[in-house]
Amino acid sequence: MLIFRAVHGYNVTNDGKGAVPANCFGTKLYMNGNVLSDLENMHETLWINDDKAKNCESELKHCELRLSDIADAEERLLRFAPLIKRAFPETEKSGGIIESPLVKVERLGALLEADNVYMKLDSSLPISGSIKARGGIYEVLKHTEDIAFREGLITKNGDYSELLSEKSKRIISKYSIAVGSTGNLGLSIGIMAAKLGFNVIVHMSSDAREWKKEKLRSCGCTVREYESDYSVAVSEGRRQAEKDPLCYFIDDENSKTLFLGYAVAGLRLKKQLENLGIAVDSSHPLYVYLPCGVGGGPGGVAFGIMHSFSDNAHCFFAEPTHAPCMTLGMCTGKQSEICVADIGLDGKTAADGLAVGRASGFVGNIMKRLIDGCFTVSDERMYYYLAKTYELEGIKLEPSALAGCLGVSLMRNVKNAAHIIWATGGSMVPDDIMEEYIEHGRSSLV
Ligand SMILES: *Cc1c(COP(=O)(O)O)cnc(C)c1O
Repeated sequence: MLIFRAVHGYNVTNDGKGAVPANCFGTKLYMNGNVLSDLENMHETLWINDDKAKNCESELKHCELRLSDIADAEERLLRFAPLIKRAFPETEKSGGIIESPLVKVERLGALLEADNVYMKLDSSLPISGSIKARGGIYEVLKHTEDIAFREGLITKNGDYSELLSEKSKRIISKYSIAVGSTGNLGLSIGIMAAKLGFNVIVHMSSDAREWKKEKLRSCGCTVREYESDYSVAVSEGRRQAEKDPLCYFIDDENSKTLFLGYAVAGLRLKKQLENLGIAVDSSHPLYVYLPCGVGGGPGGVAFGIMHSFSDNAHCFFAEPTHAPCMTLGMCTGKQSEICVADIGLDGKTAADGLAVGRASGFVGNIMKRLIDGCFTVSDERMYYYLAKTYELEGIKLEPSALAGCLGVSLMRNVKNAAHIIWATGGSMVPDDIMEEYIEHGRSSLV
């Protein structure tokens, strides 16, 4: 039986009945001191953010990044759409726009005991099959545009697909792009940057899966492997890139460009919800559960969502019990000044996309008054949801992508809410590995 320690003082089993109190809001269900000890003990924990702004709109006005910055990113993606469409035929239908469907998951919703449950399938984003196809690819395109203007390869109103010509690639090949990654960011940046002619160096942490490294090598990228965790891969990558003036380092821990690429999703979500006839207003709140690693992906998406829906949206970050870096940074107020090793955690998790020991300080500081809370999830629970999501909905996801599901159970009694589980990755996972995931999930059922 899975132990379901969702809320302070409640240590109950996951029998699906009454495990979580009615509405977590408005009630004091936790104490920050205890959250810390729950994190240390790797209990599944919910932390509600007392510091959330009472008026998100005015909070957003104080932020260094603006709505106009997100709109600028969206316009840049539109300029690149003809290039994307030509380089990646799978984007033909969407006209070169990298976007994912929002689908209703009624049967999974029933398992989680809530109505109006949706999944945002970033797992099927074209090109690299994860949420990183938003930020990672966007930053490569932004950097490419900067170089291309400087080298006179294109003009802002011209045809960007000219960047796929041999002449352009020859010029681009003087330049390098480097990144540190647990896997998916490297995959997104590597595939895109190699296509445009860059030399690509991906610094991979020990969590990164073998098939991701192989895929990158097959695209012509250089993969450097590290025995240690993600933050070492990032700092090594940063250090090596600094020595080469033609090498651009994509900094997952601090990049505003990545963040804005992710944020575009939050603006587009508005239209998607309208198309499905899902109301979001003061009597129909929207709850969104986002798997969180270093924070850029979920932070950026949530930032865009807050711009779209303001006080009517509630975003939560979901993390593995072994690597709850954002929850830790938020509940202590220390943000990136504390890491999971400081409280004795190993950072090892099957959710490789979330295997991060220290959260982004940049993201933590932007989001600390905008998110509703964070919660942690055991690996076994992610596997359990993985098998169930496949069995009930026929959707194949990687373990990281399931972290958000628990949020629906936690918030299931909020009246008239729509819930979105942000399913962050999975379609690139090779079949045999996916089968192992599903098998593991089945055997972890009670
Ligand atoms: C990277 C990743 C995340 C989290 O994004 P961060 O920017 O690291 O917080 C979530 N899910 C998957 C599948 C990922 O690859």
